[in-house]
Amino acid sequence: MPKLTQVQVDAFPLHRFEPILGAQRAARFKAIARAASALLEGRAVVNVNSTAVGGGVAEMLQTLLSYLRGAGIDARWTVIAGDPEFFSVTKRIHNGIHGSPGDDGPLGAAEHEIYRRTIEANAAELEASVGKGDLVLLHDPQTAGLVEPLKRAGAIVVWRSHIGIDRPNRWSERAWEFVRPYVSDADAYVFSRESYAPPWLDRSRLWIIPPSIDPLAPKNARMTRATAAEVLAFVGILGAPATGSSPPVRFKRRDGSSGRLARRADVVQAAPPSPDVPLVVQVSRWDRLKDMQGVMESFTRHVARGTDAHLVLVGPNVRGVTDDPEGAQVLEECIDRWHGLSPGERRRVHLACIPTEDVDENAVIINAIQRHATVVTQKSLAEGFGLTVTEAMWKHRPVVASRVGGIGDQIDHDRNGVLVDDPTDLGVFGSAVARLVDDPRGARRMGAKARIRARDFFLGDRHLAQYAELATSLIERDGRNPRHPRSRNEEL
Ligand code: UDP
Repeated sequence: MPKLTQVQVDAFPLHRFEPILGAQRAARFKAIARAASALLEGRAVVNVNSTAVGGGVAEMLQTLLSYLRGAGIDARWTVIAGDPEFFSVTKRIHNGIHGSPGDDGPLGAAEHEIYRRTIEANAAELEASVGKGDLVLLHDPQTAGLVEPLKRAGAIVVWRSHIGIDRPNRWSERAWEFVRPYVSDADAYVFSRESYAPPWLDRSRLWIIPPSIDPLAPKNARMTRATAAEVLAFVGILGAPATGSSPPVRFKRRDGSSGRLARRADVVQAAPPSPDVPLVVQVSRWDRLKDMQGVMESFTRHVARGTDAHLVLVGPNVRGVTDDPEGAQVLEECIDRWHGLSPGERRRVHLACIPTEDVDENAVIINAIQRHATVVTQKSLAEGFGLTVTEAMWKHRPVVASRVGGIGDQIDHDRNGVLVDDPTDLGVFGSAVARLVDDPRGARRMGAKARIRARDFFLGDRHLAQYAELATSLIERDGRNPRHPRSRNEEL
């Protein structure tokens, strides 16, 4: 089995936030960061998840940890290794916690055995680098089994679930029963919404911390319309101006250095749309619960005929996301469905797989497609918290999304976005999209309010302040000295 991977995390100075947050909010943030840094002196903050790319957890770790490092905190990111059997069990748990049967397979003794085998191999390696008093944040069910071995190694262990369902059903209950013995000893639990925490969880150890985005990351940084169109033309999502060879498209990387787009997207389409047609866009992993097929149906039946819009369904290149074994299959199903459309419908629907080899390049392409979109959709059947929703809102986009899970907290219906109560109602979903395509002024007004909502509630400073509060409470309770006292700036 492959070894653990240490993901490289840069250190970003906190003052980068100032122009966005304003002086007062930025000063408050810096004061919190300074206090957290003093508190965590001599302790590592070790984050563990199961993929370095693809999906919201990887996205957030990349950004939040950079600011922790910028504040002088020894923040690290480790990715566990697993074989396909392990990831098919954890995907079943993931689907279950979202209330879905997934592949319908069992979650019994044999699956515990598969799960434990991989966890033990990872724990053996991790224990060597985690010490007494270190603060460990384990993310999602893939890492739940590490609670116990890392507690034994003397770490303070937090288990964070980024997923959940508001109303439990038999699938979610079955999945939680699987996870329960692994997580019951955690020092704290973090959920995005209170309703996601299963009833047996000790409420005195429960923290509610919704996710956030980084406004300065290549995924969300400012980009002109012209640059967005150039990026999309280069990767093959938009038609290029008929000028022959296009100049290289440059972008700024997270570490400030200059990058150049090198890879094209794999796009299933009749021909790229012209840059001036309205685009309806959904960006998601190829996961059934994101219902990309449903978006396609809803678009072809209820949007395509009455408007000149095109639909672009955007997901990662399925080779890049190792912890998501269903990705290739779901993409295949979408492609089959696309082949089943009439020729006229096929001209209006595009399926794009974005390269994931270079995280910054991937982010810039997603940034461009979200900015170029006339309407962004998130027609999930279940959702912990849709980072893609906040990303689009930050970019002034009107979003039409299902009222499921955290999305209900992200959007105020009809004010800064549209929520559709029944995610399976293709007609209501499609009409909401068509209305916004037909009403550019209304869409602009909604987009402007969306930006304010994202700025006020879903940026990284709020998230990090909540983490600091959690760390303070745990360390005060722990009372032990860290294993490696060091001077503040030694590691940075
Ligand atoms: N994403 C990406 N490339 C893709 C598809 C998704 O970078 O091809 C990113 C997307 O921009 C967002 C994250 O993956 O930052 C998805 O997070 P979300 O919370 O929406 O859903 P999750 O994948 O965690 O269920």
